[in-house]
Amino acid sequence: MAYDRNNVFARILRGEIPCKKVYEDAHVLAFHDINPQAPTHILVIPKGEYVSLDDFAENATVEEIAALIHALGRIAREHGVADSGYRVLSNTGPAAHQEVPHFHVHLFGGRDLGGMLLRR
Ligand code: AMP
Repeated sequence: MAYDRNNVFARILRGEIPCKKVYEDAHVLAFHDINPQAPTHILVIPKGEYVSLDDFAENATVEEIAALIHALGRIAREHGVADSGYRVLSNTGPAAHQEVPHFHVHLFGGRDLGGMLLRR
């Protein structure tokens, strides 16, 4: 899938729409989800133009990949969920109901997060 420069996270990265920022470095931006599904619900995104995790894994630099993983751990600790527990999740494509076509990782915590997947 080609990268859509008008997706909402691209617009946040360009400063065209606001976000509640929790972390930023040269490669990563993290901010609160606008529709939180847990007491802690933070989105961690690369600044580069990647559609999905597999796009990121294939095309990002080692520095970009390391920065994203480093940010996730740091944010989990700084937001007080490292000990109580948290979940990271990245929706990719139609089967996972990905809404925003800019690679992002959800970080959830602050409550019991239940089972891993809805069983059908
Ligand atoms: P996904 O289904 O994984 O693509 O999730 C996209 C997430 O982006 C959803 O949890 C939305 O609530 C969130 N979202 C959409 N627009 C914004 C925004 N302007 N600021 C923060 N989060 C947003």
